[in-house]
Order: sequence, then structure tokens, then C-alpha cells
Amino acid sequence: MMAIELQSVTKTYPGSTDPAVKSVSLAVEKGALVTLLGPSGSGKTTLLRLIAGFERAGAGEILLAGKRVSGAGSWVPPEKRGVGMVFQDYALFPHLTVARNVGFGYREPDKQARIREVLELVDLVGYEGRYPHELSGGQQQRVALARALARRPVVVLLDEPFSNLDAALRVHMRLELKRILKNAGATAVLVSHDQADALAISDRIAVLKDGALQQVGSPREIYRFPENRFVATFVGQSVLLEGVVGADAKSVTTDLGTFGCSPHHAFRAGDDVYACIRPEGLEVVAEGAFQGIITGLTYSGRSLDAVIEVQTNSARHALPVQLPPGAEVQTGQRVGLRVAPDAVVLVRDL
Ligand code: ADP
Repeated sequence: MMAIELQSVTKTYPGSTDPAVKSVSLAVEKGALVTLLGPSGSGKTTLLRLIAGFERAGAGEILLAGKRVSGAGSWVPPEKRGVGMVFQDYALFPHLTVARNVGFGYREPDKQARIREVLELVDLVGYEGRYPHELSGGQQQRVALARALARRPVVVLLDEPFSNLDAALRVHMRLELKRILKNAGATAVLVSHDQADALAISDRIAVLKDGALQQVGSPREIYRFPENRFVATFVGQSVLLEGVVGADAKSVTTDLGTFGCSPHHAFRAGDDVYACIRPEGLEVVAEGAFQGIITGLTYSGRSLDAVIEVQTNSARHALPVQLPPGAEVQTGQRVGLRVAPDAVVLVRDL
């Protein structure tokens, strides 16, 4: 049984003509960690709030643990849905201690034991008597998470969990959050506009644009095989070359040349497509298939990220190329380029 099932869920806010969420269907397995990823205004928060029951869908159905909570004449209010919510600003009660924040609204006889259990889970034993202002941002977030988990929710919903954390803490909290949610056996849906957060933490990513689902897949699938131009450019860097599919859909011809690609069922010979190449799929070599001029270099420690301009008969391309950190190259230098085997993926327009 799925923990969450959305079936053609649509939401249009009053006074608006365009739906904020357009016919979204999505199933989340029990125990999975799914990220709703998209730019600002793509409908992520609305979708999260529809699952929580803070908004009502205009059409479609929502099932939680197999039970219909919205649609087809059903409506279950938020507090009866078994949903634990972690808000972007954590929404802790400033005048309550950590223990009382975590236990708030929990009325079972095992209250004290449960508070201790979830504080152990989030590694905050010893902090029971502290107040929120006596905690770091990361600790406050863990209190909010402990409060959400205390009631053993069917699903935990997290709105932009990393947005209030600085860069170093962010990387640490990604791992922490994943560890805590997995140890709790929780099913979680989180909202993010940051592709690095989404790739790092998720079992699956659901990419949204203008309220519509673009692609759902594991981080690897989304990065390696983006289905359309939007996903290819929103998640990771890429160059997209207009092309035509060759025989057996095993090659694509662009103005930079013809490249082999793995057969792709969605395309047939002669189709107009885009050839997507990631920065690590391009190699600087002495005798390349084509040549370009380095116009930008950014050192990241782990790599040297170059922009290489290639002029063809019909266009000028700025290719993002990932070089080894020690590569001896300079801006303005002319270099040969080669496309690595299996680096080209066929992508739809939209
Ligand atoms: P995201 O979380 O991806 O930034 P939202 O779900 O907040 O996107 O917003 C999706 C769309 O719905 C946007 O166009 C936004 O302006 C609109 N919207 C969000 N909340 C409301 C609201 N309460 N009333 C009217 N329009 C809203």
C-alpha cells in the first residue's frame, strides 16, 4: 500500500485563472523520502498544503495510507490526517521548553517516554529544559522534527527544511535529516527549490513547473536521464543542442556532429530533439572532434569548471565543461573537445 496517493489533483486559488497545481498524480511508497523540487511559484507549497489538508483541492483525490482524505465527497480535516508538519520557520512555541514543545498536543499515556524516545532520535537528550532561543538553528529544526514525529504520523511533511540554515550546517543537516527520518521509518515529503539538496537527500524527486509534474525519478534518473529541457536545465548544468534522431534512435545529429546515444523508446528516427550533455560528459583532448576557446574558469577545489565557446556554421555554443582541478589551462586558450561515450541523452522540448 502506498503512504500517499495523489490522483489528478488540481487546485486553483480564488480569483486566479491559472491553477497553482495542475492535475498532479503521484504515489509515495511507505518509508520513502520524496522531494517536490521546482522554482519559486511552481506549486510545491500548495501541493504540500493539499496533502496536509490546509488547502482544498478543486478536483482529484488524495489518499493517505489507503484512506481517502480528499475528493469524491470525502474531506478529512488536517488534525485527523495523521500528518506531521515541519514548517519552514519551525513554528516552535518560544515560551515552552524543548520537552513541552515536543509533547505539545500529544495526549497518550506514554507521553514522557515518547518525548524521550524522539529526543533520542534527533540527538537532543539533555536539552529538555532549554527554550527555543537557547538553541542553534539546526537544533531548533530537530525539535520541530521531533514534535512532528512524536505522534507517529502516517507522513511527515517538511517545507523548505534547509532554507534557514547556513551553507556548512545545511550539508550536515541533509545527512542528519535523512538519518533521522530513516531511523524513524517515516514517510516524508519535503519541498525544496535547491537541486543540490534534492539530489543529496531524496529517494525520489518530483520536478514541478507551473503547477505541473515534469518528471518523477530517483536522483540518478533525474540527473542522468532528464526527460525534457526544463528538467535538464533546472537540475544540474547541461548544454542542449538541437538535433535530429538517427536510425534506430541510437544516434543524434547536431551542428557539433553526430553522437551515439543509448536507444530511447520515446523517440523515433527523424524526430526533432535536444541532445543533452552534462559538464562531465565533455573532455578536453589534444585531438578533439571539435575545438573551442576557453572563456571562463571557476576553481571549486574538487574541479575546474570551464566554459568553452564553440563556433559552428550555424551557432555559437557555450559549453560547461568539468575539468580535473589540476588541469593546466587558461582563459583564451583554444582546446580540442571530445564527447565521452554514453554522455549524450535525448531530451524532449517540453
Ligand atoms: P512554490 O511553493 O513552488 O513557490 P506556491 O505553491 O507557493 O509555489 O505557489 C504556486 C502559485 O500559486 C503561485 O503562482 C502563487 O502566486 C499562487 N499562490 C500561492 N498561494 C496562494 C494564495 N494563498 N492565494 C492565491 N494564490 C496563491
